[in-house]
Amino acid sequence: MPKLGSHMSIAGGYYRAVEAAAKAGCDCVQLFTKNNNQWRAKPITAAEIDAFQDALQRTGVSDPLSHASYLINLASPDLELRKKSVDAMVVELERAAALGIPHVVVHPGAFTTSSPEEGIAAIGVSLKEIFRQTPDISTTVLLENTAGQGSTLGWNFEQLGAMLSLVSANRERLGVCIDTCHAFAAGYDLTTDEGFLLTTSELDRHVGLNRVKAIHLNDSKKGLDSRVDRHEHIGEGMIGISAFRRFLAHPQLSNVPMYLETEKGTDDQGNDWDVVNLERLRASIGVI
Ligand SMILES: [Zn+2]
Repeated sequence: MPKLGSHMSIAGGYYRAVEAAAKAGCDCVQLFTKNNNQWRAKPITAAEIDAFQDALQRTGVSDPLSHASYLINLASPDLELRKKSVDAMVVELERAAALGIPHVVVHPGAFTTSSPEEGIAAIGVSLKEIFRQTPDISTTVLLENTAGQGSTLGWNFEQLGAMLSLVSANRERLGVCIDTCHAFAAGYDLTTDEGFLLTTSELDRHVGLNRVKAIHLNDSKKGLDSRVDRHEHIGEGMIGISAFRRFLAHPQLSNVPMYLETEKGTDDQGNDWDVVNLERLRASIGVI
Protein backbone atom coordinates (compact mmCIF):
# COMPACT_ATOMS: atom_id res chain seq x y z
CA MET A 1 0.00 0.00 0.00
CA PRO A 2 1.56 3.31 -1.05
CA LYS A 3 1.86 6.15 1.42
CA LEU A 4 -0.78 8.74 0.59
CA GLY A 5 -0.88 12.32 1.84
CA SER A 6 -1.66 15.89 0.95
CA HIS A 7 -0.22 19.38 0.88
CA MET A 8 -1.13 21.14 4.13
CA SER A 9 -0.99 24.74 5.34
CA ILE A 10 1.67 25.81 7.85
CA ALA A 11 -0.48 28.67 9.17
CA GLY A 12 -0.01 28.66 12.95
CA GLY A 13 3.17 26.56 12.80
CA TYR A 14 4.79 23.71 10.89
CA TYR A 15 3.33 21.20 13.34
CA ARG A 16 -0.15 22.31 12.25
CA ALA A 17 0.45 20.89 8.77
CA VAL A 18 1.31 17.53 10.36
CA GLU A 19 -1.75 17.59 12.60
CA ALA A 20 -4.02 18.50 9.68
CA ALA A 21 -2.54 15.63 7.68
CA ALA A 22 -3.15 13.17 10.52
CA LYS A 23 -6.72 14.42 10.93
CA ALA A 24 -7.46 13.83 7.23
CA GLY A 25 -6.05 10.30 7.38
CA CYS A 26 -2.79 11.04 5.55
CA ASP A 27 0.26 8.80 5.83
CA CYS A 28 2.56 11.61 4.61
CA VAL A 29 2.50 15.40 4.21
CA GLN A 30 3.80 18.14 1.90
CA LEU A 31 4.30 21.73 3.07
CA PHE A 32 5.99 25.02 2.27
CA THR A 33 8.70 25.97 4.77
CA LYS A 34 8.11 29.67 4.03
CA ASN A 35 5.59 31.87 2.26
CA ASN A 36 5.65 30.51 -1.29
CA ASN A 37 5.03 33.89 -2.91
CA GLN A 38 7.75 35.82 -1.07
CA TRP A 39 11.52 35.77 -1.33
CA ARG A 40 12.22 36.51 2.30
CA ALA A 41 11.49 34.42 5.38
CA LYS A 42 12.09 34.58 9.11
CA PRO A 43 14.63 32.06 10.40
CA ILE A 44 13.15 28.86 11.81
CA THR A 45 13.42 28.59 15.60
CA ALA A 46 14.48 25.56 17.64
CA ALA A 47 11.02 25.51 19.23
CA GLU A 48 9.37 25.31 15.79
CA ILE A 49 11.63 22.40 14.82
CA ASP A 50 10.87 20.57 18.08
CA ALA A 51 7.12 21.05 17.68
CA PHE A 52 7.29 19.77 14.09
CA GLN A 53 9.34 16.70 14.99
CA ASP A 54 7.11 16.02 17.98
CA ALA A 55 3.98 16.18 15.79
CA LEU A 56 5.47 13.66 13.32
CA GLN A 57 6.34 11.29 16.20
CA ARG A 58 2.96 11.71 17.86
CA THR A 59 0.82 11.25 14.75
CA GLY A 60 2.90 8.70 12.84
CA VAL A 61 2.74 10.91 9.73
CA SER A 62 5.95 10.26 7.78
CA ASP A 63 7.80 11.38 4.66
CA PRO A 64 7.42 15.15 5.09
CA LEU A 65 8.11 16.84 1.75
CA SER A 66 8.94 20.50 1.15
CA HIS A 67 7.70 22.43 -1.90
CA ALA A 68 9.88 25.40 -2.88
CA SER A 69 8.65 28.92 -3.63
CA TYR A 70 6.94 29.58 -6.96
CA LEU A 71 9.15 32.64 -7.50
CA ILE A 72 12.28 30.57 -8.10
CA ASN A 73 13.40 30.33 -11.74
CA LEU A 74 16.64 28.38 -12.08
CA ALA A 75 16.44 28.68 -15.90
CA SER A 76 16.14 32.46 -16.13
CA PRO A 77 18.29 34.26 -18.72
CA ASP A 78 18.20 37.26 -16.34
CA LEU A 79 21.36 36.69 -14.32
CA GLU A 80 20.18 38.75 -11.39
CA LEU A 81 16.93 36.78 -11.10
CA ARG A 82 18.86 33.56 -11.52
CA LYS A 83 21.24 34.43 -8.69
CA LYS A 84 18.28 35.37 -6.52
CA SER A 85 16.69 32.01 -7.38
CA VAL A 86 19.85 30.06 -6.54
CA ASP A 87 20.15 31.90 -3.22
CA ALA A 88 16.48 31.22 -2.48
CA MET A 89 16.87 27.54 -3.28
CA VAL A 90 19.88 27.34 -0.93
CA VAL A 91 17.66 28.79 1.82
CA GLU A 92 14.91 26.28 0.94
CA LEU A 93 17.38 23.38 1.34
CA GLU A 94 18.72 24.77 4.63
CA ARG A 95 15.21 25.21 6.03
CA ALA A 96 14.19 21.69 5.00
CA ALA A 97 17.38 20.28 6.53
CA ALA A 98 16.69 22.15 9.79
CA LEU A 99 13.21 20.62 9.95
CA GLY A 100 14.48 17.14 9.07
CA ILE A 101 12.77 17.11 5.66
CA PRO A 102 14.77 15.02 3.15
CA HIS A 103 13.55 16.45 -0.18
CA VAL A 104 12.58 19.85 -1.65
CA VAL A 105 10.41 19.86 -4.80
CA VAL A 106 10.97 22.70 -7.25
CA HIS A 107 9.61 23.55 -10.69
CA PRO A 108 12.72 23.51 -12.92
CA GLY A 109 12.05 26.95 -14.40
CA ALA A 110 11.07 28.85 -17.53
CA PHE A 111 13.43 29.97 -20.32
CA THR A 112 11.38 33.14 -21.03
CA THR A 113 13.39 35.10 -23.65
CA SER A 114 16.11 32.48 -24.27
CA SER A 115 15.62 28.97 -25.71
CA PRO A 116 14.79 25.57 -24.21
CA GLU A 117 18.43 24.49 -24.71
CA GLU A 118 19.82 27.58 -22.99
CA GLY A 119 17.24 27.24 -20.22
CA ILE A 120 18.19 23.62 -19.53
CA ALA A 121 21.90 24.54 -19.52
CA ALA A 122 21.14 27.36 -17.05
CA ILE A 123 19.33 24.89 -14.76
CA GLY A 124 22.44 22.69 -14.78
CA VAL A 125 24.63 25.63 -13.77
CA SER A 126 22.14 26.69 -11.08
CA LEU A 127 21.92 23.19 -9.57
CA LYS A 128 25.71 22.84 -9.39
CA GLU A 129 25.94 26.21 -7.64
CA ILE A 130 23.17 25.23 -5.18
CA PHE A 131 24.98 22.01 -4.25
CA ARG A 132 28.31 23.86 -4.03
CA GLN A 133 26.79 26.26 -1.51
CA THR A 134 25.25 23.50 0.65
CA PRO A 135 28.08 20.96 1.12
CA ASP A 136 27.12 20.04 4.68
CA ILE A 137 23.53 18.97 4.13
CA SER A 138 22.15 15.96 2.30
CA THR A 139 18.74 17.43 1.41
CA THR A 140 17.87 16.58 -2.18
CA VAL A 141 16.34 18.66 -4.95
CA LEU A 142 13.40 17.04 -6.75
CA LEU A 143 12.69 18.56 -10.16
CA GLU A 144 8.95 18.44 -10.85
CA ASN A 145 7.58 17.84 -14.33
CA THR A 146 5.45 20.75 -15.53
CA ALA A 147 2.35 21.09 -17.71
CA GLY A 148 4.44 22.96 -20.29
CA GLN A 149 2.54 26.20 -19.91
CA GLY A 150 4.35 29.15 -21.54
CA SER A 151 8.11 28.61 -21.61
CA THR A 152 8.24 26.31 -18.58
CA LEU A 153 10.77 23.50 -18.89
CA GLY A 154 10.62 19.90 -17.73
CA TRP A 155 7.23 19.13 -19.29
CA ASN A 156 8.64 16.07 -21.01
CA PHE A 157 10.85 13.36 -19.54
CA GLU A 158 13.58 14.01 -22.14
CA GLN A 159 14.05 17.50 -20.69
CA LEU A 160 14.04 16.23 -17.10
CA GLY A 161 16.60 13.60 -18.09
CA ALA A 162 18.76 16.26 -19.77
CA MET A 163 18.72 18.32 -16.55
CA LEU A 164 19.71 15.29 -14.44
CA SER A 165 22.54 14.44 -16.82
CA LEU A 166 24.12 17.88 -16.32
CA VAL A 167 24.81 17.14 -12.65
CA SER A 168 27.38 14.40 -12.07
CA ALA A 169 28.88 15.38 -8.70
CA ASN A 170 26.17 15.29 -6.02
CA ARG A 171 24.09 13.06 -8.28
CA GLU A 172 22.50 11.49 -5.21
CA ARG A 173 21.13 14.91 -4.23
CA LEU A 174 19.02 15.21 -7.38
CA GLY A 175 15.80 13.38 -8.21
CA VAL A 176 12.36 14.06 -9.64
CA CYS A 177 8.77 14.46 -8.52
CA ILE A 178 6.10 13.41 -11.02
CA ASP A 179 2.78 15.27 -11.07
CA THR A 180 -0.05 13.33 -12.74
CA CYS A 181 -1.98 16.46 -13.77
CA HIS A 182 1.11 18.07 -15.30
CA ALA A 183 2.09 14.87 -17.15
CA PHE A 184 -1.41 14.52 -18.64
CA ALA A 185 -1.63 18.21 -19.60
CA ALA A 186 1.80 17.84 -21.21
CA GLY A 187 0.57 15.01 -23.44
CA TYR A 188 1.16 11.77 -21.50
CA ASP A 189 -2.06 9.76 -21.82
CA LEU A 190 -2.58 8.07 -18.46
CA THR A 191 -6.18 7.08 -19.23
CA THR A 192 -5.45 3.73 -20.90
CA ASP A 193 -3.26 0.75 -19.99
CA GLU A 194 -1.20 1.29 -23.16
CA GLY A 195 -0.78 5.02 -22.48
CA PHE A 196 0.27 4.39 -18.88
CA LEU A 197 2.76 1.71 -19.94
CA LEU A 198 4.23 4.04 -22.56
CA THR A 199 4.43 6.89 -20.02
CA THR A 200 6.20 4.82 -17.36
CA SER A 201 8.60 3.27 -19.87
CA GLU A 202 9.48 6.76 -21.22
CA LEU A 203 9.97 7.92 -17.63
CA ASP A 204 12.23 4.97 -16.91
CA ARG A 205 14.23 5.47 -20.12
CA HIS A 206 14.90 9.19 -19.75
CA VAL A 207 14.87 9.68 -15.98
CA GLY A 208 14.97 6.25 -14.29
CA LEU A 209 12.12 5.09 -12.06
CA ASN A 210 14.59 4.87 -9.15
CA ARG A 211 15.04 8.66 -9.33
CA VAL A 212 11.33 9.32 -8.75
CA LYS A 213 11.20 10.23 -5.04
CA ALA A 214 7.71 11.76 -4.82
CA ILE A 215 4.47 11.76 -6.81
CA HIS A 216 1.77 14.45 -6.90
CA LEU A 217 -1.66 12.93 -7.40
CA ASN A 218 -3.96 15.46 -9.06
CA ASP A 219 -6.73 14.99 -11.60
CA SER A 220 -6.84 17.57 -14.40
CA LYS A 221 -9.56 20.08 -15.31
CA LYS A 222 -7.99 20.43 -18.76
CA GLY A 223 -7.52 17.85 -21.49
CA LEU A 224 -4.62 15.75 -22.75
CA ASP A 225 -1.85 17.92 -24.21
CA SER A 226 -3.70 21.12 -23.19
CA ARG A 227 -0.50 22.50 -21.62
CA VAL A 228 -2.67 24.08 -18.95
CA ASP A 229 -2.10 23.33 -15.26
CA ARG A 230 -5.46 23.13 -13.43
CA HIS A 231 -5.78 20.54 -10.66
CA GLU A 232 -9.09 18.73 -10.14
CA HIS A 233 -10.37 16.37 -7.42
CA ILE A 234 -9.49 12.70 -7.91
CA GLY A 235 -11.81 11.02 -10.41
CA GLU A 236 -13.61 14.24 -11.34
CA GLY A 237 -11.32 15.46 -14.09
CA MET A 238 -10.11 14.43 -17.52
CA ILE A 239 -7.69 11.82 -16.13
CA GLY A 240 -10.17 9.68 -14.20
CA ILE A 241 -9.80 7.21 -11.34
CA SER A 242 -8.36 4.31 -13.37
CA ALA A 243 -5.12 6.23 -13.99
CA PHE A 244 -4.61 6.70 -10.26
CA ARG A 245 -5.22 3.00 -9.66
CA ARG A 246 -2.42 2.28 -12.15
CA PHE A 247 0.00 4.48 -10.19
CA LEU A 248 -1.05 3.00 -6.82
CA ALA A 249 -0.71 -0.55 -8.12
CA HIS A 250 2.58 -0.02 -9.98
CA PRO A 251 5.25 -2.40 -8.58
CA GLN A 252 7.95 0.29 -8.28
CA LEU A 253 6.10 3.61 -8.14
CA SER A 254 3.79 2.39 -5.37
CA ASN A 255 6.83 2.54 -3.05
CA VAL A 256 7.11 6.30 -3.59
CA PRO A 257 5.15 8.61 -1.25
CA MET A 258 2.23 10.32 -3.04
CA TYR A 259 0.69 13.69 -2.20
CA LEU A 260 -2.56 15.39 -3.21
CA GLU A 261 -2.44 19.03 -4.30
CA THR A 262 -6.15 19.37 -4.84
CA GLU A 263 -8.41 22.16 -3.67
CA LYS A 264 -9.27 22.31 0.05
CA GLY A 265 -12.74 22.71 1.51
CA THR A 266 -15.74 20.39 1.64
CA ASP A 267 -17.92 18.62 -0.92
CA ASP A 268 -21.75 18.91 -1.25
CA GLN A 269 -22.26 16.66 1.76
CA GLY A 270 -19.84 18.66 3.89
CA ASN A 271 -17.07 16.06 3.72
CA ASP A 272 -13.48 17.31 3.81
CA TRP A 273 -12.07 17.09 0.27
CA ASP A 274 -8.78 15.56 1.41
CA VAL A 275 -10.69 12.78 3.19
CA VAL A 276 -12.84 12.21 0.09
CA ASN A 277 -9.88 12.16 -2.31
CA LEU A 278 -7.86 9.81 -0.08
CA GLU A 279 -10.86 7.47 0.19
CA ARG A 280 -11.26 7.41 -3.58
CA LEU A 281 -7.59 6.56 -4.01
CA ARG A 282 -7.62 3.79 -1.41
CA ALA A 283 -10.91 2.39 -2.74
CA SER A 284 -9.43 2.24 -6.23
CA ILE A 285 -7.04 -0.51 -5.11
CA GLY A 286 -9.49 -2.13 -2.72
CA VAL A 287 -8.04 -0.68 0.50
CA ILE A 288 -10.45 1.43 2.53
ZN1 LIG B 1 2.58 19.29 -8.27
